[in-house]
Amino acid sequence: MNIPDKLKRTLDEIFEAFSIVCEGTYVYVNDMSVDLSRWSRTAVDAFDLPGEYMTNAGGIWEEHIHPEDREAYHKSIDEIMRGAAGSHDMQYRARNRQGNYVMCTCRGVVIHDAEGKPAYFAGSIRNHGLEGDIDVMTGLRDQKGFLEDLEESLSEQKPFFAAILGINGFSEINTLYGYDFGNLVIQKTARLYLTQTLNGGRVYRLDGARFGLISKNFTPEQAEDAFSRFRDRTRKGFTIDGIHISFVVSEGGIYVDSYEVNSHTILACLESAYRRSGRNMLGDVTIFSARAGQKQAEALALLSDIRESVFQKCRGFLLYYQPIMNAESQTLRGAEALIRYRDDRHGLVFPDTFIPFLENDSIFPELGSWILRRAMEDGARFVQKVPDFIMNVNLSYVQLEQAGFAEEVKRLLDETGFPARNLCLEITERCRFLDLQLLKSIMNDLRQYGVKFALDDFGTGFSSASLLNDLSFDTIKIDRAFVTGIAVDTKKQDALSHLAGLARTFGSDVCVEGIEDEATREAVNRYHVTSLQGYLYSKPVSAEVFERDWV
Ligand code: C2E
Ligand code: MG
Ligand code: MG
Repeated sequence: MNIPDKLKRTLDEIFEAFSIVCEGTYVYVNDMSVDLSRWSRTAVDAFDLPGEYMTNAGGIWEEHIHPEDREAYHKSIDEIMRGAAGSHDMQYRARNRQGNYVMCTCRGVVIHDAEGKPAYFAGSIRNHGLEGDIDVMTGLRDQKGFLEDLEESLSEQKPFFAAILGINGFSEINTLYGYDFGNLVIQKTARLYLTQTLNGGRVYRLDGARFGLISKNFTPEQAEDAFSRFRDRTRKGFTIDGIHISFVVSEGGIYVDSYEVNSHTILACLESAYRRSGRNMLGDVTIFSARAGQKQAEALALLSDIRESVFQKCRGFLLYYQPIMNAESQTLRGAEALIRYRDDRHGLVFPDTFIPFLENDSIFPELGSWILRRAMEDGARFVQKVPDFIMNVNLSYVQLEQAGFAEEVKRLLDETGFPARNLCLEITERCRFLDLQLLKSIMNDLRQYGVKFALDDFGTGFSSASLLNDLSFDTIKIDRAFVTGIAVDTKKQDALSHLAGLARTFGSDVCVEGIEDEATREAVNRYHVTSLQGYLYSKPVSAEVFERDWV
C-alpha cells in the first residue's frame, strides 16, 4: 500500500502511543480524513485481516462480526464517522482465523485536530477468547472477570451501572427438559441479553442461569429500558429444538457513584437487590437504594466497613438482649438476642440496615457463627441463674443452606457448655425459599438434640399456613404489625385471634411481639398467648445491663 510519508508518520506515532498503554489488547488507529487505519500485528494474525495498514478497516472488521451483533456495531461506527459520537465501548463476537466466534470488548475514542474537527479514531480490542476467566458455554467472562471489572470500574472513579440478572425458576427447565436443553437456554438467553445491551455495557456469565452487566454508558433509565426490552422478549419466549419456552427474568441493579468501596460490597448490594427482584415474581428490576434519609455513599461505606469487620473477627458487633415474658405469670421466660454494630464512624447501627445485604454475601456464615457463639456464651451465664431460661437466636435462611449447619450448632453447644434445651432458633418465613426436605432434616436433627424452633414474624410473609403444616415449630412469634393499636382496633383483634388459633391447632406456643403498653398487653392476653415481648418490659439492652436487671 502506498502511503504518503507524513500521513504514515502521525498514524504510527499515535499507534505506538496507544500500544504502550493498551498492553495485552489489539490496538487500532484510524486516520478519519482518508479512512486509513493501522492495526496490531497480533490482530491481523488472529483474525486473518488483509494487513497492518488497511483502508475501510471498519467495513472489513464488520465482516468478522457475528450477524446478530453487526447492526449495533455498524450503528456505532457510523455515529463516530459522522461525528455524532465521540467514543464507543461495546462488546461483540468476532470470527477468528479458525472460524470461531470469540467475545471481544472494543473501546475507542475520537481525537480532534486543532480546529476541533474529528481527526483520528483510536482504541483497543480485548479478545476474551485469549483470557483464562471465560465461561466456555457462552464465551462471556465469568464471575471472576465480573469482580475484576467491578474493581477496575471503581478504580476509574467514574459513575457506572452494574446489575445481576437471571432466569426465574431455571431449575424447573432443567428438570423438565434435561440438562443439555437447559444449557441451550442459557446460551440463547446470553445472546438475547447481549444484543439488548451491545453498546451499553459488558455482559458476564455468573453462576447457573445468572448474568452480570457493567455499563459505563447507560443512565439508570436506559439500563431499565434495556432490561424491560429483554424481559418482554423472554416473556414472549423462543423455540429451541422445537420446544417453545418462555420465562420471567429478574434483575437487581445499582448505580455506583461513590468509590470508597470494594467489588464485594457492590456484589453484596447486587445480590440483595436481585433477591428482592426475584421475590416479587413479576420480573421487575430492583435498584439498590439506601434507606430513607441515608445517602448511597454512606450506605456503601457502612456496608464496606461492616464487611471488613467480619474479617476482623467480627470486631464492632454486639448482641443485645430483649426479655421475653411468660404471659400469664409475668415472669422472665428468656430473651431474644438481637445484633447491633458500632464503630466511631457510624455510631450504633441496627440490623435492618445490614443484615439483608450481608445475608447474600459469602461471608455471612462467619457472622452467623459469631452470633450463635456469643449468644451461647452469654446465655451460659444467664442459665446458671435462671435454669429454664430460653435463649432465642435469629437465623438467616442462608445459614440453613450452609453444609454442616446442624453439626456446627452442636459443636458450638459443646464448646460453650450451653444446654441444647435452652436454645430456640428463630427462622422467618423466608426459609420457604429453601428446599423443604433439607430444612426438615436439619430441624429434626437438632430437635433430637433438644434444640427448639420458632417461626418469626408470623403473618407478614406468604405461605404461613402451609409452612406450619410442613414443619413443626415449638413457638410461633406473631409480628408486631398485628398488635400495634390492637386495644381499639377490632380488625386486629380478629386477626390475632385467628393467627393464635392457627398456631395452637398446629400445637405451637404463641409469642406476641411489640407489646408497648399496658392496654396492648391486656388486649393481647385475652387470646391466651404463651409469652410476650416488647418495650413495655424492656428495649433490647447490652449483656451487662441484661444480666444486672433481669437475671
Ligand atoms: P425480629 O427478630 O422480629 O426482632 C424484633 C425486632 O422488634 C427487634 O428489632 C426489636 O428491637 C423490635 N422490638 C421489640 N419490641 C418492640 C416494641 O415493643 N416496639 C417496637 N417498635 N419494636 C420492638 P431489631 O433489633 O432492630 O431487629 C430487627 C430485625 O433484624 C429482627 O427482627 C431480625 O429479623 C433481624 N435480626 C436481628 N438480629 C439478628 C441476628 O442476630 N441474626 C439475624 N439473622 N437477624 C437478626
Ligand atoms: Mg426474631
Ligand atoms: Mg419478629
